Amino acid sequence: MNEGFNKIKWAEEWMKVIARIREEFRKEKPFEGMKISMAMHLEAKTAVLALTLKEGGAQVSVAGCNPLSTDDDVAKSLKDDFDLDVHAWRGMTSTEYYENLKKVLSIEPHIIIDDGGDLTTLAIKNSEYSKNLIGGNEETTTGVLRLKSMEKAGVLKFPMFDVNDALMKHLFDNRYGTGQSTLDGIMNSTNLIIAGKKVVVAGYGWCGKGIANRMKGMGAVVFVTEVDPFKAIEAKMDGFTVMPMEEAIKDADLVVTATGVKDVVTLEHIKSAKDGIILANAGHFNNEVAVEEFEKVTKGIEVRRNVKKYNLFNKKVFVLADGRLVNLAAGQGHPVEIMDLSFSIQALTARYLAKNEPREPKVYPVPEEVDRRVAEIFLKVNGIEIDKLTEEQIKYINSWEEGT
Ligand code: NAD
Ligand code: SAH
Repeated sequence: MNEGFNKIKWAEEWMKVIARIREEFRKEKPFEGMKISMAMHLEAKTAVLALTLKEGGAQVSVAGCNPLSTDDDVAKSLKDDFDLDVHAWRGMTSTEYYENLKKVLSIEPHIIIDDGGDLTTLAIKNSEYSKNLIGGNEETTTGVLRLKSMEKAGVLKFPMFDVNDALMKHLFDNRYGTGQSTLDGIMNSTNLIIAGKKVVVAGYGWCGKGIANRMKGMGAVVFVTEVDPFKAIEAKMDGFTVMPMEEAIKDADLVVTATGVKDVVTLEHIKSAKDGIILANAGHFNNEVAVEEFEKVTKGIEVRRNVKKYNLFNKKVFVLADGRLVNLAAGQGHPVEIMDLSFSIQALTARYLAKNEPREPKVYPVPEEVDRRVAEIFLKVNGIEIDKLTEEQIKYINSWEEGT
């Protein structure tokens, strides 16, 4: 049985929005004569995006955006069954990871599609890779933050679209996608029960909200830590107990970080933790839980796939997936229907870029028409109808004269 091929076909079956876009691409060929380089979590849904771009006439080269998130079955099928240029495998070293990013850039792409900013940074630092570049897209929150720093520092050399901030991306991907898949990754790697556990969620942004609410739904007793007063109040009013990490970690069974910031759980915090605490991260980098600090004290021992045990201050501390994104490194990533939305935004934004070629090297929002189009197709393929404002209602909301 060809597992990778079957996984891609299963994803295609449920990615009904991008299927419509693919039909348009097949007829229009918006990327005819163009090369597209991608660095994304290389699994079945990403394969569907790559094949959609290929259907649109592009020559596509794909690398991973995380050393642990490649699905090797899918990577093999993309090469063997779909003749795609693929440079990724699960467990690549940091050196191999960067070599692979260089390989996908060596095709001298017209468009790049990045997740996290590593591919973009390489393209900026090595001008031989960006000769043909008209611009690209960035998938995630931390990648967009990095792009904005590049823009501010005056080093961004081409236009980049901020896919993360499209409504049809973060409202569903970051919240419901991370919510479900983080639980999936934790349950997968530990096989422990969530109900009744004291769970601390660090960060109540789009991802943290999703995780905290899904944990609550599964019966956990959830505490939230924050640095932003507005988000902290939102968490409180959503029914969570808010307090600093130093307090929250006492008696915690499980801590999940989703902040995009380093050192959220440090060695110092472990002093207050109980024996047997489990630590997981759903944020961008593997430094939200200070695993490097732990490793300096004692070497982690693999006690189960994706679970390492550390002996710190005479306590057992279990770290999932080496502190990397637990939903992707120890789970299957976001559910298919969620990635259908994010990748439909990616596909339509790439077409917009190919057709409109904005010239200024800035970070651009996804055009509203793209966001709206994905929402409309989603409603259509799901058979959902909604009301329309009447002429009278439009007049009413636009008039300042009509009062009570
Ligand atoms: P966000 O900006 O909406 O939320 C981050 C929250 O963390 C903010 O509310 C911020 O105030 C809070 N925070 C910052 N430092 C903190 C600290 N020291 N302690 C407690 N809270 C702190 O961002 P988001 O969209 O929720 O993304 C969060 C991270 O997850 C990013 O790194 C992003 O790239 C990543 N991400 C991961 C996935 C995934 O599949 N695992 C999906 C989307 C985004
Ligand atoms: N390079 C970073 C990327 C951050 S991951 C890292 O690995 O450290 C966060 C992004 O992964 C999200 O914005 C989400 O859109 C994407 N993602 C989540 N599940 C995915 C999946 N199953 N397939 C592809 N991408 C996925």
